[in-house]
Formats: sequence, structure tokens, C-alpha cells
Amino acid sequence: MIAKIIVDVPVSRTNRPFDYLVPDWLQPITAVGSRVIVPFGPRKLQGYVIEIGEIKDVESLGGDPTKLKEILQVQDDVPPMTPDLIRMAEWMSKQYLCPWVMALQAMLPAVLKGKSEKILVLAGQIDQQIVERSPLLSELHARGSVPFSEVDSKYADEASLIPGWIKAGWLATEYQVKDRVTHKMISYATLQVDIAEVEETIAAMPARAEQMKRVLRHMAMFGGEPIPVKELLEEVGITRSPLKSLAQKGLIRLEEIEVYRDPYANRRFKQAVKHPFTEQQQRIWEPIEASIEKQEFASFLLHGVTGSGKTEVYMEAIERTLAKGREAIFLVPEISLTPQMVERFKGRFGNRVAVLHSALSQGERYDEWRKILHQQVQVVVGARSAVFAPFHKLGLIVIDEEHEGSYKQEETPRYHARDVALWRARDTGSVLIMGSATPALETYALAMRGRYQLLTMSERVGNRPLPQVHVVDMREELRTENRSMFSRTLFSMMEDRLRKQEQMVIFLNRRGFSTFVMCRSCGYTLRCPHCDISLTYHKTNHTARCHYCGYTLRQPDRCPECQSEHIRFFGTGTQKVEEELARLFPGIRVIRMDVDTTSRKGAHEELLGRFRAGQGDVLLGTQMIAKGLDFPRVTLVGVIAADTSLWLPDFRAAEKTFQLLTQVGGRAGRHELPGDVVIQTYTPEHYSIRYAMKHDYPAFYQEEMLHRRQTGYPPYYRLVLITFSHEDVPVVIRAAEQVSEYLRPRLTETTIVLGPVASPIAKVKDRFRFQIMLKYRDEPELADLLGRMSANVDPWMKQHQVSMTIDMDPQILL
Ligand code: ADP
Ligand code: ZN
Ligand code: ZN
Repeated sequence: MIAKIIVDVPVSRTNRPFDYLVPDWLQPITAVGSRVIVPFGPRKLQGYVIEIGEIKDVESLGGDPTKLKEILQVQDDVPPMTPDLIRMAEWMSKQYLCPWVMALQAMLPAVLKGKSEKILVLAGQIDQQIVERSPLLSELHARGSVPFSEVDSKYADEASLIPGWIKAGWLATEYQVKDRVTHKMISYATLQVDIAEVEETIAAMPARAEQMKRVLRHMAMFGGEPIPVKELLEEVGITRSPLKSLAQKGLIRLEEIEVYRDPYANRRFKQAVKHPFTEQQQRIWEPIEASIEKQEFASFLLHGVTGSGKTEVYMEAIERTLAKGREAIFLVPEISLTPQMVERFKGRFGNRVAVLHSALSQGERYDEWRKILHQQVQVVVGARSAVFAPFHKLGLIVIDEEHEGSYKQEETPRYHARDVALWRARDTGSVLIMGSATPALETYALAMRGRYQLLTMSERVGNRPLPQVHVVDMREELRTENRSMFSRTLFSMMEDRLRKQEQMVIFLNRRGFSTFVMCRSCGYTLRCPHCDISLTYHKTNHTARCHYCGYTLRQPDRCPECQSEHIRFFGTGTQKVEEELARLFPGIRVIRMDVDTTSRKGAHEELLGRFRAGQGDVLLGTQMIAKGLDFPRVTLVGVIAADTSLWLPDFRAAEKTFQLLTQVGGRAGRHELPGDVVIQTYTPEHYSIRYAMKHDYPAFYQEEMLHRRQTGYPPYYRLVLITFSHEDVPVVIRAAEQVSEYLRPRLTETTIVLGPVASPIAKVKDRFRFQIMLKYRDEPELADLLGRMSANVDPWMKQHQVSMTIDMDPQILL
């Protein structure tokens, strides 16, 4: 048997399969998708089996099978990747121009991404006296092996002696694949005596065995069931030694049982009530149902306003898919993977669901993932990478909030989960449903062209009105001498809600939680000397830190530029808003979510839990609170400054603003109580604000499409962003120019090549960044061309240590 294997060396020379022999004894557990250890040159590497064949295949190609090396080991009993994932990895490596092995690795939980480590081992007899004089050799004698990383740090003095020792045959180097898999085991105690005979046994035991007797009685009381040792020790109040003695006497059995670390293990979930569909849901359900019944590929864009009952439809689709004996993937943006969302799914599908999100520890993620692999669950709910769930009978993929930027991975492989899902659905004959209240322009445009079936739900469930949106012109407020950050409209509505004891969400249109340090006198901001960005203020230790390289500065007392004392951190401004709230509404209870209140693990959920429990009148925060939250008592949403996201240097600024305002608005009045939304802005006439106010997506789409056509951006053009970085400007420019010179004559005339120019973030970690942007409409050979270009310039780039990244359909243009 021959296996074609992709080895774990992400360089272009090895970016192809290599043939290996599968020895007889390994054949039973070797399959497409297996992780294996293979010899590769002087090393042992991890690899992935992508194809299995017979020896004659090699012979017929003129190869000599006796020259092939053998696979040394197979890592898993069950291949961690399915054949369709293996096919997909090949497609991804071409589509996103990444090494094949990196596409494969992206599909595995971090725990399985094998790293090989160079180690030093004993190879022959060494004179005892020499060993005693050498700390390194002593250590080797004691442990058998020492990793090279440790040699460098602890035994640097002896490093130069090592080659001699190797030559003398005392030592050898090896590569060890570190497999970080750790299984959690719990020890259990089980009674081995018949319950009826326990008292008799106890009577026969010596008086001093009092603790042992208590253990036996306790266990008998619980019917002899296995009890976790830890609980037993606590409940009986003893140490471990009496248990050991009991086990030695054969009265109890101690054993280690593997458990899955389930973060939701001790939570009970309310059985979810299934609602009969509304007329609107029924209408859009029918085509989905038909496709699920047929069990073949179909793709839908479900455009439904917030609260129209999309999630109910997704869940019904999942249930129907399971009834067909197939499996389902439900993707949500990381940020909306809230406990509520999980609860809803667990409530409906119980322990048939695995949940994958980044807040889990590596071990927890691995355990959830193994439930999928071992076919113990049929549904997975998770963020971006859950699209790689190793299901064998996939039947459905749902992408909720498909417009979200977090579906794009911003490191190699730079894939978009939407594209990957589409490919996988097609390949496996599954149904794909993409849903959003504000679809990405690209997606909606494809639906308009008939590539996806467009399904629309424009009303909320139960005819609950969409919240009334009030746009307030803040320039007008200034003219009437209102200098507060709250308009009169917002102020009076807040008073009203406080009186009625209803809840509110106040939202600052700022990205993330980060804060920067600025001098109020001269405007000087603290920036990283190595990277072209502002430093982020950390309150806990009063330092300013670079987000990219870790450069840290103590918060200065005086401005380095003008010596003013008025240098302080600025940020999302949530703190300022909180102070203002306290001043205007004495006694108001504010739950603030920002960098200071959410840095601790679990703080996020805790704060939301408190708000849900009614322990706050106002939830105050940034974009983080804009999505996925569903609070029955929220009847007012206020947006302090809607414009901030309009002027970002990004062609999607208007789209993002529209999405944000629409999403924020969706937070109000989702339940019995009607809702209001107040949007404060300095540009009320901007179309993204006007149409958000009217909940009019189609009109926004029309107008935004006009702008995109005029400026030549997606969906009219597709983009490729090629970014170069190097410590010296001339080198990085030369690299970029070479690439541009290579590409220009080979591209069709309709393709526009912009640059090379300096990137908007011109320096990171002391490396200067330049970029080339391609805008193209029709370039069928583009991936091939870029692949050839990479191979062509690769040696030069390596030699000059220039790094080049290619981002197809970039989401972030910095
Ligand atoms: P969306 O995902 O479009 O925002 P949801 O599916 O979350 O909407 O539905 C909004 C609310 O309406 C939820 O509280 C949900 O339980 C409820 N709901 C959905 N469908 C129905 C229905 N057919 N009958 C009654 N209530 C429904
Ligand atoms: Zn200053
Ligand atoms: Zn830096």
C-alpha cells in the first residue's frame, strides 16, 4: 500500500504530495485523512495522508517502490479529517495561495497541530567521570533526552562541545513530534463487595480501620455506584491512603475513566418550545424544505429583519436535516456566540450539539471537536473554523449574520468561511443558508443575479413593530446651546424609561475596547516607535503598550512634546459617558462594558448576566454590545455618535455604518414592549443613516451599488491585496516593483493595478510595509498567475528576507 502524504513543512519546495509505503502492520489504521509520522531527509515529520493507492501505481509511473520510505507511525485511530476536507484543502491551497499543509492544519484543533522539536539523546556509553563533570551529560543521563531549546538556554557553555560528542558516538539528535493532546481522566471508585455483605465485611475488619469502614458504608449508601474519588474524599472526609488499602484488599476498584471536558456539563437547559411557523416563515420555509428533502446542493440568502424569526427557521432546517440522517453546521460570528444562543440550541437539540468557540480552553475545544469526530453529536454551533467540522454525512450549513467581517480569517490561510461553506456544501450535496438583516453587498448582489435563492422576511414575528427610529441632528443641538453628549430627545426618553423601570442600551460607535494616550494641549499621541500605530493604554499597570509588537512605555506624567501635564488616555469614551449619566440621572445603575470592565476572563458574560437579571438600567458599551443580544426589557437604544464609523478609510465605511445602526436598532422592542431608537449624528443627511432609519435595505443597496460602481470596488470589481514588508524601504519597494512588473503584462486589460504604495499602516515591528492592489472583473487564470508569480519571486524574497502576503478578497485594507 502506498500513501500520498503532505508533510508539515510550509515551503513551496515541499508543497506537493510525497509517496510513502504503508507497512503491513499500519495498514488497518491508515486512511485518507490520517495524521502520520514520516521520515523526511534527516528528520521525522508529521504528515497528512491525502490519497491511498497500490504499489503498481508507483511502478506504472516508472518509480521504484523499493526506494520508498515507510510511514513510521499513525497518530490517530480515527482519521481526524474526512475525505471531503482533504479535497477542500487542495482547493483552498489554490484558491488562497497558501501551502497545502497550512490549509490542512487550519482544519484541526490547535492541540493536534503537531510541532516537531529537535532533541538531544544518549547514543552510547560515556565515561562516568566525564558525565559527572558535565551538567548537560548528567541531565541527559537522568532524563534520557533534552530538547535543543533547553540546551541553548541552560547549557550554552557546552553547546560547542556537542558536535564532538556526536562524532564520538555518545550523543545523537532526533526530531520529536510533540503531540499536545491531553485527555482528561477522572478517577472513580467502585464498590466490589455485594451491598448485602458490606456490614459483614466491616465487622471482620480491625478496629483501627475506622476510615476504611466509613468509606465502605458511604459507598454502600449510594448503591455501590462508581463515585468520583475526589467527591468521595470530600464527602467522607478522608485522605487517599485508606482508598488504596481498600483497593489492595480488592474491596473497591479504582480506575481512571476518560471524560470530555464539557463546559456546559453542569448546566441544565430548558426544553425549547417549538413555535408553529408564521405565514411569513412558512412561505420562505417551503423552498428550503424542498431542498432538504431532495438532499442535494442548494444555496439560499435569507434576508430577514431582526426579530423576523430567522433563527427559528434555521433550527427547523437543522431538525429536518437530522431526521434525514445527516448532519448540520451552524456558524455564528464569535461575538454572537453568547450563552443565550448556546442555550437556545442546547434546549432544542440537547446533547446532539457540540459548541466550538474561542473562549474554550484548548482542551475543551478538542473535546467538543472529538464528539463530532466520534459521531456523538450531529450538530455543531461555532465560529468561523467550525466550517471544518469533521462530519461524514453533512447535509446543511447555516451562516448566521453572514455579513460579519469575522468570517474572514486574517492570517494564512486567508479564507472566508462563506466561500469555504459554499464549496463544501456543493461538494457534499448539502443545503447552504446564509442569513442576515443586512447582507453583505457582495452576497446580495449575487442573490440578485440568481446565484443564491433570495428569501425575504420583512416583518417581525407577531407583527411587533420595528422600533421607531429618531435621528437627531447634533449640530442643531449645539445651536440651541445644548453642549451635553445627550440630545434633548434622548434625554427625555431616558427619563421616561427610568420612570417605567424599563432597560436601555447606550451605544458608542467605536471599534473595540482600545484606548490611546493623547496630550490635550498639543494633540501629541503616544505611538509605537517600531510600528505605525498608537499605543494602547492599560489601566491595570498604567502602561501604554503596542498591540503589534509588545513595546511598552510607562504612562508619562508630562507630554514628551510640549511638557504639558494634560496628557491622558482617551478611548472609547465609555467612562466619560458613564460620568455624564451619573451626573444627569442621579442613582442610575449603569453596566459598562469596555477594556477595563471586560479584561478578566468571563467578565463579559457576567456583566450581560447582571443586566439580564435587571441589575442595571443602562447597558453602556461599544460595538461589542451591538449584536446578538436579546433582552426582553430593553425598549430604548441610543447611539451617541453615529458618524464615527462613516469616515474610516475603508470603501465599506457606509455599509458598515448602515449595518451597525440597523443591528443596534434590532436590539430594541424585540418582545412585548415596543421600542425606540435614537441615533445622534452630525450628518443626518447621509444615506446610510437615512435608510437605516427607515429600515430600508433595498434602497441602501441601490445607492451603495452606485457608489461602488463609480469607484470601482466590490461587487463590481474583485480585489487582491499583496502586502510586502522589510526593514529597509528600498528593498521593500524593489520587491513590490518586481511583482508589479511581473504581473502587469500578464493581466488582462480590464484589470487595474494600484501601487506599489506604502500601506496605510506603514510600519509594523520595524518593518516597512508596501502594497499592491489588483482590481479585476474577469481574470479566470488569476490564482494560477499569482501562484506562478509567487514561485518565481520566492527565491529572491527568501534571499532578501522580504515577506509577502496575498489576500484574495480582502476585508481589511490596512
Ligand atoms: P431573528 O433570528 O430573525 O432575529 P428569532 O428567530 O430570534 O429572529 O425570533 C425572534 C423572536 O420571535 C424570538 O423570541 C423567537 O422565539 C420568536 N419566534 C420566532 N418564530 C416564532 C413563531 N413562529 N411564533 C412565535 N414566536 C416566534
Ligand atoms: Zn503636548
Ligand atoms: Zn510596536
